[in-house]
Amino acid sequence: LTTVDRAHYEQTTLWGRANVALPDHQDQRLAAIDRLVPNEATTIVDVGAGDGRVLHHLSTVRGPGLLTTAVERSFAGLEHVGGALRVQGSIDAVPIARRAAHTVLCCEVLEHLPNEVYRRGIKELARIADRSIVITVPNNEVRRRADVTCASCGCRYNRERHLRSFGIGDLDGLVPGFDLSKVIEAGPRQPLYPRFLRVQMERVGLLPVLGSPSCPQCGETYLAGRGDDRHGGGGRAGNRYRALRSAVPKQRRPYWLCARFTRSRLN
Ligand SMILES: [Zn+2]
Repeated sequence: LTTVDRAHYEQTTLWGRANVALPDHQDQRLAAIDRLVPNEATTIVDVGAGDGRVLHHLSTVRGPGLLTTAVERSFAGLEHVGGALRVQGSIDAVPIARRAAHTVLCCEVLEHLPNEVYRRGIKELARIADRSIVITVPNNEVRRRADVTCASCGCRYNRERHLRSFGIGDLDGLVPGFDLSKVIEAGPRQPLYPRFLRVQMERVGLLPVLGSPSCPQCGETYLAGRGDDRHGGGGRAGNRYRALRSAVPKQRRPYWLCARFTRSRLN
């Protein structure tokens, strides 16, 4: 992990309830995860748990008796985690014993990983999961639509730091030793703005910039518009944003791809 990457994930604006991007998207994703985690799962490890919002949701809807562990490399993220065991660590070397969790979660993590970390990370999920693995990723994302150009060094990068995208066809065989057992597409259909239009709309404050993008080369923060309505939550910019969203064509598929993998019988 580079210093710039580390700094990115330590930004306090990435984590916590106040910074949840588009809460309605999150609700649909959390409901899908709850449907995928087997009822008999009492030990759950979330790898790349962030601020612990997924574990918090599961604990809330399933009640006491759930033993949850949040594995997260960002100290800023871990600080928000409550009610779960907190473990600082990276997906490519998870400090948890073999088959220690009934179910392992890995939500919106895989799309961020460079090749080597990705390869080792998948193996780690399979190592610590006893029965099942629940993975969520953006659904068939066209990554270049989220590209921005760094004002400082000129580097063009995906502002959500997504390095790979997944379709339903990519899921089968994704985790060696595990079978794909259930898939749910969840969440709203996103508007499909052409990149140049989106960049212009962000610049004049018509579209909020989700998350806290920063350049992977030099660390410069991407400041598109005013920055005071980053999540489209309210105010006049929020209203214009909603009006615009309803006017443009939408992607065909719901935003999230959520999948459960079950340990193969032979394994
Ligand atoms: Zn840069």
